[in-house]
Amino acid sequence: MIIDTHVHVDADAFDEDRETVIERARENGVQYMVNIGCDIKSSYRSMELAEQYDFIYATAGIHPHDVKSIDDNTYSHLKQLLRHPKVIALGEIGLDFFKNYSPHDVQRTHFRQQIKLAREMDKPIIIHSRDAKEDTLAILSEFYPKDPNAHSGIFHCFSGDQELADKALELGFYISFSGSVTFKKTEELREVAKTIPADRLFAETDCPYLTPVPHRGKRNEPAYVNHTAEKLAEIRGLTIEDVQRTMSLNFFQLFGIGDNAKTGTVSYKIRNSLYLNLTQRCTADCVFCTRLTKPVVQGYDLALKREPTAQEVWESIDDIRNYEEIVFCGFGEPTLRLNVIKEVAQKIKNAGGRVRLNTNGHGNVINKRNILPELSGLVDEISVSLNTDTSEAYDEICQPLPMFRNGIYDKIKEFIAEAKKYIPEVQATIVTHQKNVDETQCENIINEEFGVKYRARRYNLVG
Ligand code: SF4
Ligand SMILES: [Zn+2]
Ligand SMILES: [Zn+2]
Repeated sequence: MIIDTHVHVDADAFDEDRETVIERARENGVQYMVNIGCDIKSSYRSMELAEQYDFIYATAGIHPHDVKSIDDNTYSHLKQLLRHPKVIALGEIGLDFFKNYSPHDVQRTHFRQQIKLAREMDKPIIIHSRDAKEDTLAILSEFYPKDPNAHSGIFHCFSGDQELADKALELGFYISFSGSVTFKKTEELREVAKTIPADRLFAETDCPYLTPVPHRGKRNEPAYVNHTAEKLAEIRGLTIEDVQRTMSLNFFQLFGIGDNAKTGTVSYKIRNSLYLNLTQRCTADCVFCTRLTKPVVQGYDLALKREPTAQEVWESIDDIRNYEEIVFCGFGEPTLRLNVIKEVAQKIKNAGGRVRLNTNGHGNVINKRNILPELSGLVDEISVSLNTDTSEAYDEICQPLPMFRNGIYDKIKEFIAEAKKYIPEVQATIVTHQKNVDETQCENIINEEFGVKYRARRYNLVG
């Protein structure tokens, strides 16, 4: 099941076969689509489609191309439209300094004014921004994120650079990619798409425009959103199911539509790996970690009402043979539950499975002994988050428990060195883009001091 966050199915291009196109979307697994208003007429048409079809939602707004035609009645029409329960956002609005169909100052004025209306009506916005990075960001930062509880919105058909993406994320926005990520010449855009956290990612067709490969040259339609999602999965090293699940949960979180993720997920599949969620407790409180505020990984909600027993963890695994590896991970530190790891890992090994443990490396301090000999033969691979190149930076960024400060960093290093003796594969990881961390120096420490594999990742990219 997939969501197309941006369609123009009301457009003339679909006059001949609109119903067939909508039916084909359903047949191809499109669970929801959002028909976008660009002016008052298309906003009413969007609302009518939403009335007619349960799986179509609508937006209302005036596109930057059309703001020059705004008159005295426009805003009262918009208000009226936004009161409809299936009109879920205000948009598409923004700035287009590429085509320049409306004067720049008129575009700026009505971008601001429509954002004000969205805030007043408590609706997310759909942003169209083309060749107008500075102005878009300047205007958005006047309104967001002053109120962190306010609805943000979606940067639709994202075509900007890394800076625009990073700032949009900082302001609380979601990023939606269209068929352009599938085009041959958009390598830079794909690089940006790789860095968008899973909990901020969407796909869209923007049909009838921007048809993805392999249908390029033909009219675009919602059923083709699968090609864009497949490309996003491919470049992010995930399966299409991973991307679909993630986007469904994002849709739910932004608009309140669809299925909420089940909380208390004990085992969850990403790619061909099965992850086991033992605890939400941790002996650190990393500045980038959302384990307590938003414990969501790749569309799974990992909030635990209570910690599962070893038996429950074991029973949550359907069939070991379905997975390349079973990973003790979750949104907390698994070695806080060492006995559960040992008991379940033994069963996994007996059944012929492969075991990985993702840890913050505090295990020996937590358990007050060297636990690595006990994991020998049970764990095939261990991945330790080192995160920084100095002890001071570690305490600042990973914020270990007070009694662990001033020294836990060296204990983690000892843990990595010990791990090499007992575990066949060892890697150490860092989360990139953290203050006061020299990433090259981290890589040197990990490669040269320990001779183990180094992995740098952006937070919340791959679970
Ligand atoms: S060690 Fe992992 S679970 Fe613990 S706070 Fe840091 S990122 Fe979150
Ligand atoms: Zn647009
Ligand atoms: Zn559009």
